Amino acid sequence: MPLLFKKVKDLRNYLHGLKCERGLSVGFVPTMGYLHEGHKALIKNSKIQNDITIVSVYVNPTQFGPGEDYERYPRDLDRDMAVCEELGVDAVFAPTDEEMYPEGFRTEVYVKGISEVLEGKFRPGHFKGVATIVLKLLNAVQPDRVYFGEKDYQQLKLVERMVRDLLLPVEIVPVPVVREPDGLAYSSRNVYLSGEERESALSIYRSFLLAQEMINQGERRSEVIKKEIERFILSHPHVKKIDYVEITDSELNPKDIVDKGDRILVAVWVGNTRLIDNWKVS
Ligand code: AMP
Repeated sequence: MPLLFKKVKDLRNYLHGLKCERGLSVGFVPTMGYLHEGHKALIKNSKIQNDITIVSVYVNPTQFGPGEDYERYPRDLDRDMAVCEELGVDAVFAPTDEEMYPEGFRTEVYVKGISEVLEGKFRPGHFKGVATIVLKLLNAVQPDRVYFGEKDYQQLKLVERMVRDLLLPVEIVPVPVVREPDGLAYSSRNVYLSGEERESALSIYRSFLLAQEMINQGERRSEVIKKEIERFILSHPHVKKIDYVEITDSELNPKDIVDKGDRILVAVWVGNTRLIDNWKVS
């Protein structure tokens, strides 16, 4: 089993020996747990590129808004420990809320602009919670490399911005979206979906294939492509609404005319489950 730390102090003592005395490199994979193949891809990359791999498991309350799924978010540390053991993770950091937000906590990190668009429009305060916890975790672990999935593309871009702006000495390694064989992006939230809802959720991936095919056929107008994605997804049962379909360049600037390397980003409600996904135009 990997070592399990609940306190920053204990984690730091452990890492101090490895980094300072033995000069080992450290890779870090921050997660909210309930580990799946997407998380596993991040961990495997870290294992290849570093001597030591640390995984954090923490459902961060400050990145959930009122009425969101904080309480029902799936949690199973024993299972996560077993997954980490299977992959050869060295240590798991699973702090308590008191450890991360002790009495008197007052500091927040706010990345302007990027926190307000796309996800930020629909989840006010979300990215303030994300930036704050990511900075805290990076300070606790002080890794050489940190791994983020492109599944949460805006989060990846926000963390890249924060790391540059605050001169954090860490390399960010992006990992492409990992999908189930039928195309559904792995997500801890997929456990919320009924069988029928899951079937409708596949329309997200299929809409990306449809959009890519339109682009391959020469369509480059974002408005036309976005309309077709919306029409296609909304034609499926259990799809309650679409929060957004956007097409941007790789830095999240909106595009009217689509080029290779741009991103299609969507957020869709299937039943009571909110799913996000994105596609790199090729
Ligand atoms: P989460 O536990 O959902 O906060 O995710 C932790 C990390 O895993 C984040 O960097 C996510 O982007 C990444 N991740 C989650 N799902 C996937 C996926 N299907 N493919 C690639 N990365 C993922």
